[in-house]
Amino acid sequence: MTELIQTSQVQEHGATRIPDDDEPVLACTFGIQVSAVDDMESDLYFQRKEGTDSLWMEAEPRYRSESITAPTHGSAKNACKRLFKAHIRKPQRCESITRLISPGLLSASDYQSAFEEVLLEVDHEESFLEGYPVIACKFWLSIIVDNIDAVLYFQRDGITDSVWVKTEYDYGADPITAPTRGSAKRACKRLFKEHIRQHGGYQFPGKLISAELLSAWSYRSALKEVVHEIDENKRQADQHRHAEIVEAARALRLRPEPSGDSPNNWIAKCPGGPHSIMVAPTSNEFGCGYCRIKGGPDILREFANR
Ligand SMILES: [Zn+2]
Repeated sequence: MTELIQTSQVQEHGATRIPDDDEPVLACTFGIQVSAVDDMESDLYFQRKEGTDSLWMEAEPRYRSESITAPTHGSAKNACKRLFKAHIRKPQRCESITRLISPGLLSASDYQSAFEEVLLEVDHEESFLEGYPVIACKFWLSIIVDNIDAVLYFQRDGITDSVWVKTEYDYGADPITAPTRGSAKRACKRLFKEHIRQHGGYQFPGKLISAELLSAWSYRSALKEVVHEIDENKRQADQHRHAEIVEAARALRLRPEPSGDSPNNWIAKCPGGPHSIMVAPTSNEFGCGYCRIKGGPDILREFANR
């Protein structure tokens, strides 16, 4: 118990005394393991005073831990749970708290969920270190006219970060990877955006079902940011609407339109089958990977009239 410091200023907290607004209130009493054999009772106190919330632990005989403090925010109950989680997060504290003896400002369910939430964070961190995948979020993936359940996974192995999407039908798309950079949450959002860009032509994430590593806010802002990019790309590519290759595709009734994945490129119906051709106004060429053909406006006219 190195975090406990001896003090002679422990106050008496009589059961009949009603504390003032800014006086410490008992958050709960729990058992702590001091040594391998010793289990003792410890009181957790919460105090809201002069714009600061603090939380500390007091135990017999005359021990008081350092306080965890934060600017006053939200209800006392919520602030107390938030500070308790910060208390648990401190190294070596997790094992030292053994059981809840009696709840107070901190209810039994808040006490329990504080542990569960911190353990989940620890699981995430350890998973990254060991290179195991963690669930970033679950959502509906819109594929043409259907919605299917999808799960976004994130993995950090110390060298690279990756994300991939698994669905009930398992499309087996390749993971999006990048060198490890920044926090896991930010890396996850960055790679998720890249995933949307690469698959945006035929599938798009829809309603969020549950947020885990990727928060609901990050999920929504990732979608919004990519949609904005696509709109901006289309707007810029539209400046090429009179390019010769675009005019040729239009004259052949191939319905050319900006692709949205770059500020230049267009797509159009392929004359050779039910798929799209790439139309590049800057090089005045079209190309179809399926039909293995590419060339300028003359080749496109010849291909379409075959
Ligand atoms: Zn084709």
